Amino acid sequence: MVALFDCLWGLVMNWKLLLVVLWAVPQFAFALNVIKVDGGEDGRQTTGQAEIWHDVENNHNVAEVERRYQQGAFAPLQTAGSTGLKPGAFWSHFLLHNVTEQPLTLELEYVDHQLVALETFVRPGAGGEQYQAIANLSLSDPFDLRPVPHNRFVVPVVIPAGQSVEFMVKFSSHQAGFVFPSLRIWTPERLRENYTRETSVIMFLFGGIFIMSIMSLVEAVATRDKTFLLYSVYALSKIVSWCTILGYTHQFLLKDHFHWNYLSISGALGVFFGIVFAREFLQTRRYAPLVDYVLLFMLGNAVFLLVCAIFNFNKLAVLSITVALLLYPMMSVAGVVRWRQGSADAGVFALAWSLLVFGLVVQALRDLGVVPHSTLNYYWPAFASFVEMLGIMAAMGIRVRRLRLQKNAVKKRYRNHLEESRKALEEQVRLRTRELEMAKLEAEHEARTDPLTGVYNRRSFFIEAGKRLHLALRKQQPMSLLMFDIDFFKSINDTFGHRLGDEALRLFSDTVVANLRDSDVWGRLGGEEFALVLNEDRDGTRRTAQRLREAIGNIGINTSAGELRMTASIGVAYLGQEEDIDMLLNKADDALYRAKHQGRDQIIEYEAGI
Ligand code: GH3
Ligand code: MG
Ligand code: MG
Repeated sequence: MVALFDCLWGLVMNWKLLLVVLWAVPQFAFALNVIKVDGGEDGRQTTGQAEIWHDVENNHNVAEVERRYQQGAFAPLQTAGSTGLKPGAFWSHFLLHNVTEQPLTLELEYVDHQLVALETFVRPGAGGEQYQAIANLSLSDPFDLRPVPHNRFVVPVVIPAGQSVEFMVKFSSHQAGFVFPSLRIWTPERLRENYTRETSVIMFLFGGIFIMSIMSLVEAVATRDKTFLLYSVYALSKIVSWCTILGYTHQFLLKDHFHWNYLSISGALGVFFGIVFAREFLQTRRYAPLVDYVLLFMLGNAVFLLVCAIFNFNKLAVLSITVALLLYPMMSVAGVVRWRQGSADAGVFALAWSLLVFGLVVQALRDLGVVPHSTLNYYWPAFASFVEMLGIMAAMGIRVRRLRLQKNAVKKRYRNHLEESRKALEEQVRLRTRELEMAKLEAEHEARTDPLTGVYNRRSFFIEAGKRLHLALRKQQPMSLLMFDIDFFKSINDTFGHRLGDEALRLFSDTVVANLRDSDVWGRLGGEEFALVLNEDRDGTRRTAQRLREAIGNIGINTSAGELRMTASIGVAYLGQEEDIDMLLNKADDALYRAKHQGRDQIIEYEAGI
């Protein structure tokens, strides 16, 4: 302990020696950035961030950078993984030392997709020689030029048995970009396995989004609902943008003519269609105009981003992306606003978007170098996108269900209404039919009856009497016809007026009816003449006629000149063979005539030849 203290004290005293030590410490530290490799590399080991240099102007060649290295310009990266958004290029220095007796073939993988170019230089670990370029990868180059077919940049390297290889790697973006200067080290087999696993999961997710897009398209055709069409387009734009951002478009589709601009363009399209869909789905224009203005602004910003991306206005594009990302939570806000207005599907939408926003925040933290790169935060936004699409699909399902319930309710109401209308109509028709039947019966009754007395009129009396006559002839039953004529009726009229005459006629008829049976046929032939058909033989007829004559004689009408009495003369005819009603009536009339002549108020039977 004392010896150590003496030694340190000696160093302090000898300042020249101290300087040498202080100079040697960083040299020693650089010398420590030696990474031992043994052929078991599975991507967990990285080239590290211990020796990084920011080439702000991006105008140094490897020889100049080597000089900077010698001057101690390289320093450990201060962030958790990403350099953050910086202009120019970054250089990384490290040594790979093969601790085995075999030469090792390894692959160095860049962990992100936002880099435009990656150049790799090597020289034997002993130093002294010139750096040799072994790989120059660029998004602008045809994909087939890549030494390892992978959606991200991968550099294959060979480390001789028991030796070291010194690396200088240049990471460059266009104007400005995020750089993750630590490469993952793999054996080719392990990288292949990992690649297959990752790609399978991603393709599964995108396949899911694609199926949702197709389903939505079918639904759009079936329902003619624009929302489904927009969802379908939105989902497709998601697939396009994620495939482009993650490098698959370059790998499989635009192998030769890919441009790093496409990343921004496809991203802008995704944002654009996302907002277009959200506006339609949430119906903000109608129900939340204030929110809608913000969404419109975001839409404008997406278009602006698209223009910037197409025309290479990189700084404006970065500004626009920043604005877009900052405003992204507004989509969730819009969903919440609509949800609070009572739309359940908007609630699900808000949840789905919040997940995406959270994913983007995670990505931003990684891009800014706040948290280290990991597979989880690298894929989180893509995964969140998938869940978002799934969530929105569910929201649309809720919406379709609600619309269907509404439709069914309306249909039911319509059906009930229809049923009620039908019943009301039937009732109306029933009542109307009844009325018509009544009216018809009434009309028939009126046509059949005499309006003053309510008994058969002349016409219907003839019909009814005719029927009786035929029946009697057929059954050979007796039948008689009696004609009544009120005596001196004219004088009643003349003395007491026509109205009292009418009253007398009614009383006369009522009195006769009161003394008849239902089967008898009684009618008014005209004026003060009436007729009666009886199904009786002579004796019966005589008794009835006599009874009626007496009843008539008993009629008393109160008048100003005291009680008025009336009598009637009655002519009787009996049915013989082959007679009709006219003949019978003529006979009765004949008898009546005689009754009048013989002094009235009497019953005279027809006798031939008199
Ligand atoms: P007779 O004893 O010979 O039958 O004498 P009469 O006056 O009864 O006979 P006549 O045929 O001369 O008169 C019938 C009268 O009946 C003439 C007419 O004014 C009257 N008369 C006919 N129809 C009606 C009616 O509907 N109402 C009233 N108040 N009078 C009627
Ligand atoms: Mg008369
Ligand atoms: Mg008369």
